[in-house]
Amino acid sequence: MKPETAFSMETSSIKYGPGVTREVGWDMEEQGAHRVMVLTDTNLRDKEPVSVTLEALRKHSIDAVLYDQVNVEPTDVSFKEAIQFAEEGHFDGFVAVGGGSSMDTAKAANLYSTYPADFMTYVNPPIGGGKPVPGALKPLIAVPTTAGTGSETTGVAIFDFLEMNAKTGIAHRALRPIKGIVDPNNTRSLPQMVAACTGLDQLTHALESLTALPYNQRPAPEHPKLRPAYQGANPISHIWASRAIEIISHKLVRVIEDPSDDEARGEVLLAATYAGIGFGNGGVHLPHGMSYPVSGMVRDYVPEGYPPGHPLVPHGMAVVLNAPAVFRFTAPANPEVHLYAAKLMGKDISRASPEDAGEVLASAVVELMRKVGMPNGLSAVGYGPEDVDKLVEGTLPQHRVTKLSPRPASAEDLKQLFLDSLKLW
Ligand SMILES: [Zn+2]
Repeated sequence: MKPETAFSMETSSIKYGPGVTREVGWDMEEQGAHRVMVLTDTNLRDKEPVSVTLEALRKHSIDAVLYDQVNVEPTDVSFKEAIQFAEEGHFDGFVAVGGGSSMDTAKAANLYSTYPADFMTYVNPPIGGGKPVPGALKPLIAVPTTAGTGSETTGVAIFDFLEMNAKTGIAHRALRPIKGIVDPNNTRSLPQMVAACTGLDQLTHALESLTALPYNQRPAPEHPKLRPAYQGANPISHIWASRAIEIISHKLVRVIEDPSDDEARGEVLLAATYAGIGFGNGGVHLPHGMSYPVSGMVRDYVPEGYPPGHPLVPHGMAVVLNAPAVFRFTAPANPEVHLYAAKLMGKDISRASPEDAGEVLASAVVELMRKVGMPNGLSAVGYGPEDVDKLVEGTLPQHRVTKLSPRPASAEDLKQLFLDSLKLW
């Protein structure tokens, strides 16, 4: 294997501040857009972030067309509906208002309406063809309303591929929004459990990109255009991930306990963006790879604060439930980094030895999970030992992310990791 010797830092430009959504009209005008598709979901349709966005665009004489049919858990079917709307609308710009689902749907709509192709063409292999995006896309501005996905900074669009009952996605740097409008006013009304799940998702993004296989330990691409968006841990992703871990670990509890704490909420929102830059360049690994079947195979679990009648394991919850077991498993590959992460989370590591690294980091994560009200392991969201083989089966196709684990995980290892995640305390 010829090892990789290069890495790059690519990110959207970010605008942060209470009320900056009102500037989105100017931001789009600057891009030369005249007719813009605004994507959101039905829950947000009548809420302030959407009305402020539409007003701001129209104030700058931009023809803003609302598309409110984004699926909260996007599928290939919901992506295709948005793509069709985009093709028929002849837009020259896109604005996504919402969580990761709106932003990811906007990325797909932008891609396929700009470079039409059979749907599987750009989808990640082995499920899809993995063809690189042919060139630049139209300007996409992201207005996140949940503090969590960091999707405004990444070139990744995730969806459920219904036929295979698998989560997959499209990943290419050209998908990345040209700007993220990070406005704390847009996250004020998040229910506590939603804020906890998204906060822990961003924490895990940061922990995973920090501990991922270093970029110079994976093979070099045959051509620069084949260099993956998820490059592995590198000096730049390290910086963004580190600061994100520190902020979230110290401020998330305040956000959960007091949603009117504007300062803490603003900081956690900004940290989500930092974490997004970290993992958008560095990548994620096992907790994310294992989370997809945990979300996908849900039976009847409905978390507090989420709409009744729709069983779901929220993404951030599905990710963090696996995280403690994973970090115990990966720590031997790079104990110093795991200890450093625990230190960023506020743990005293002065007397910890390299052998303790996994346990120290895992317990820091568990402590925070308990403080913000996470369920106690996979068993608390409806899984038992009899489900583990299926969960493993659902993880194996996620090799785009799992191969960035600093320690390779076999099917047997994954099985043990799921068993260890059934109960966390
Ligand atoms: Zn995530």
